[in-house]
Amino acid sequence: MRILIGGGSGFVGRELTRLLKSKGHEVTIISRQPGPGRITWSDLESGGLPPCEGAVNLTGENIMNPLRWWNDSYKKDLFSSRVDTTRSLAQAIAASPNPPHAWVLVTGVACYKPCLQTQYTEESEWTPFDFLSRLVKEWEGAARLPENVANITRQVVIRPGAVLGRDGGAMKQMLLPFWLGLGGTLGSGRQPFPWIHVSDLAGIIAHALEPSTDPPSNDPEVLNGVAPALNTNLEFTKELGRILRRPTIFPVPGFVMDALLGSERAVILTQGQKVVPKRTLESGFEYKYPDLTSALREIVGS
Ligand code: NDP
Repeated sequence: MRILIGGGSGFVGRELTRLLKSKGHEVTIISRQPGPGRITWSDLESGGLPPCEGAVNLTGENIMNPLRWWNDSYKKDLFSSRVDTTRSLAQAIAASPNPPHAWVLVTGVACYKPCLQTQYTEESEWTPFDFLSRLVKEWEGAARLPENVANITRQVVIRPGAVLGRDGGAMKQMLLPFWLGLGGTLGSGRQPFPWIHVSDLAGIIAHALEPSTDPPSNDPEVLNGVAPALNTNLEFTKELGRILRRPTIFPVPGFVMDALLGSERAVILTQGQKVVPKRTLESGFEYKYPDLTSALREIVGS
C-alpha cells in the first residue's frame, strides 16, 4: 500500500514509517520541510492528495515542549498545528478522485475528564471541559469526511495516552532525572497514568490502515491507544526506579508542576484518566508490551 503520513518525521511517525516499510508498504511524509520521500503542506494544498491507499495525521506542536511558556501564542500553535493540518488532509481526501480506503487521525485521551474511579472506553460519552478537551473536539471535528466520501474511506480516530519509547516523548525528558536518582511521583501519585509503548501505537495505526470488511460508517471508529494495564503515576515511578535501580524519593508537588508547566497542561501529568482499550482489543490487536515491566525493560534495557 502507499501511505501518506502528516507529521511522519516525528517520534511516532518514525516508528510507524519503520514498521510500514518493514511490511513492504511505501511511505510519503507531509512536512513543513521539503526533502526526499516528502511533500510539503503547500504541495498538498496546491497539488491535491497524491495517490495513496491510506492517510494518517500525526502532526502537532509538542505539548510538553520544555522551551515554551504556557501562553496564548503557544496555545494557538498547539491548536493550529493540529486542527489546520487535519482539515487540510481531510479536504484533500474529500476532493480526491481516488480517496484512500483508510484515514487515521491520532489525537489523545485528554477528551476524558480526569477521575480516580471512572473507567473510560471508546464508547464513553464526553463533552469538552477544559483547554485540552476542547482541542481534541476541534481536532477530531476537522477530520470528518462528507457522507459520500465516508462511504469509501474508513475514518479511524486513535486516542493514545503518554507514548513511551527511547527516542522521544515523555521518556526522553524523564530519563535524566531518574538516572540521577532525582525521580519521584508527580502530584499525589494516585492519579491514573494511561500509557502505550511507541511500537504498539505504531502497530495499532498499521492495523487501522489495513483494509476492513466492516460496512462503511459516517462516524469515525474510535480506538483507545493505551496499554491494557491500568497503572497509576506511583506504579509507573516505582517500576521505572526499580528497573533503573535508582531511588524515587523526590515527589514533585502539584503546585510546582502547575508553576513550571502552567496548570492547563500540568493536568496531563498531575491528573489522569483510567482508559481501557476495549475496542482496540476487540479489533484483534495484540500488544507487544501490555504491561509496564515489559515496556520499560525494552526502553531502558533490563
Ligand atoms: P512530534 O512532537 O514528534 O511532532 C510530529 C511532527 O509534527 C513533527 O515531526 C513536525 O513535522 C510536526 N510539527 C511540530 N510542530 C509543528 C508546528 N508548530 N506546526 C506544524 N507542524 C508541526 O509528535 P509525536 O510523534 O510525539 O506525536 C504524534 C501525534 O500524537 C501528535 O499529534 C501528538 O499530539 C499525539 N500524541 C502524542 C503523545 C506522546 O506522548 N508523544 C501522547 C498523545 C498524543 P515537520 O517538522 O516535518 O513539519
